[in-house]
Amino acid sequence: MTTTFTSTTYASRGMRHRRPRRSIVPFLAQLVIWTGAAGVLALWWSDTTSVIGPAGWLTGAGRITGLLAGYACAVLLALMARIPLLDHTVGTDRLARWHALGGRCTISLTLAHTLLIIWGYSLTSHTNVVSQTSTLVLHYPDLLKGTAGFLLFLATGVLSARAARRKISYETWHYLHFATYLAIFLTYGHQLSNGADFVGNRLAQAAWYTLFLGVAALVAWHRFAVPLRRGLRHRLRVTAVHPEAPGVVSVHLGGEHLDELGGEPGQFLRWRFLARGLWWTANPYSLSAPAQTGRLRITVKTAGGHSGALARLAPGTRVWAEGPYGGFTAHRRTAPKVLLLAGGVGITPLRALFETLPGQVTLIYRARRPEDLALRGEIDAIAAHRRAAVHYIVDEPAGYSSPLTASGLSSLVPDLAAHDVYLCGPPGMAEAAISALREAGVPGRRIHHESFAF
Ligand SMILES: Cc1cc2nc3c(=O)[nH]c(=O)nc-3n(C[C@H](O)[C@H](O)[C@H](O)COP(=O)(O)OP(=O)(O)OC[C@H]3O[C@@H](n4cnc5c(N)ncnc54)[C@H](O)[C@@H]3O)c2cc1C
Repeated sequence: MTTTFTSTTYASRGMRHRRPRRSIVPFLAQLVIWTGAAGVLALWWSDTTSVIGPAGWLTGAGRITGLLAGYACAVLLALMARIPLLDHTVGTDRLARWHALGGRCTISLTLAHTLLIIWGYSLTSHTNVVSQTSTLVLHYPDLLKGTAGFLLFLATGVLSARAARRKISYETWHYLHFATYLAIFLTYGHQLSNGADFVGNRLAQAAWYTLFLGVAALVAWHRFAVPLRRGLRHRLRVTAVHPEAPGVVSVHLGGEHLDELGGEPGQFLRWRFLARGLWWTANPYSLSAPAQTGRLRITVKTAGGHSGALARLAPGTRVWAEGPYGGFTAHRRTAPKVLLLAGGVGITPLRALFETLPGQVTLIYRARRPEDLALRGEIDAIAAHRRAAVHYIVDEPAGYSSPLTASGLSSLVPDLAAHDVYLCGPPGMAEAAISALREAGVPGRRIHHESFAF
């Protein structure tokens, strides 16, 4: 049996709302990416007068895939450069999905480029592929380095594959991923020294240098310089740790000039606690309350080593925080009515949004047991203050989970199809919720999902 507790259920009271417009940045970002790819193809087209015979086709295809692979490397780095405008409007999780998809395409393009060029050259020079490979690797400028870079790419691709990823920890995977920076550095030279489209073409060379130097500057600035400057300026420290529910604690933090940080409800930061065993990893946790002058708060459920250790943090522990990141904010809202749908610790960004989102807001908060409903006291207080509806749904007896259905959701939220939905919960729940919402008539563009799983 599933138990539903309903808190204050009234229409919203006097909270101003304006009708936000959908950002066009995600569309523009994709347009820029595809226009760049078209530019790369145009470069090959303008340099190619004719393609003759199988060797010509193979080499031509090898050149195209090589150019696209090189360009895709720059795009992949730019997507992960944590550029605030992109991060905020596209969203960190969507950027990560684009990056993962782009990564698979880049590996495939690199592999195709290597095989096609070897095959095409061996047909042209009437040698077998093995001796052609050794000629290319040992005698062409920068190709020994390029081969090392290619092998590094392959290794990262294999490690990033889902099955392998499950066997290694997130941190190991994350640090191994940095090998791609080295791989790009190693392969960069051979593009300019061997690429038929670059040799003697100063304009193409200048464009390639500008692209890669521009992306390197973005990465250096946003991933290294900004976090360093912020760490020194804000001087964050743990002020207190409070239990909220079994296995869930809130970590309160204090610091200087926090108003400059600009963290919005719904956003997250990557937190590096300078304590034993924790300092070498920065894990993402959402703000579980709106930032206040000099104060921030996160609420964390034990999932493994890092999250579990936060319950034992001593007040005074220094903290470096990177961010704020993510686009799961009020900017996504397109309708005056909003449903917030939380599962378990997915309540954290929604708790902050519940306090601050304008308009008519309803919160549905699912957990296994009543005692797992973290932050319930303050949620009830916010609901009473803003006269919003809250539905707590817990599964009883343990082990029985009520299905998330279109009719179930519609009975709790009248006029559901007219709502924007902010959703955060475990992957199974999120999948079920999305299909139930779609069935209930909520358009996909109005479902805003934050995923805690990478
Ligand atoms: C955008 C975002 C916001 C989040 N907000 C919260 C929150 O407010 N409260 C909360 O309790 N949890 C939150 N999480 C989840 C939290 O980051 C992970 O549970 C935690 O980092 C797990 O680390 P661990 O060492 O305790 O567990 P592990 O056993 O190492 O990992 C458990 C799971 O978390 C994943 N994970 C581990 N480290 C990271 C990392 N650095 N980045 C991304 N995924 C990782 C692993 O792939 C694994 O699936 C959030 C995650 C993301 C991506």
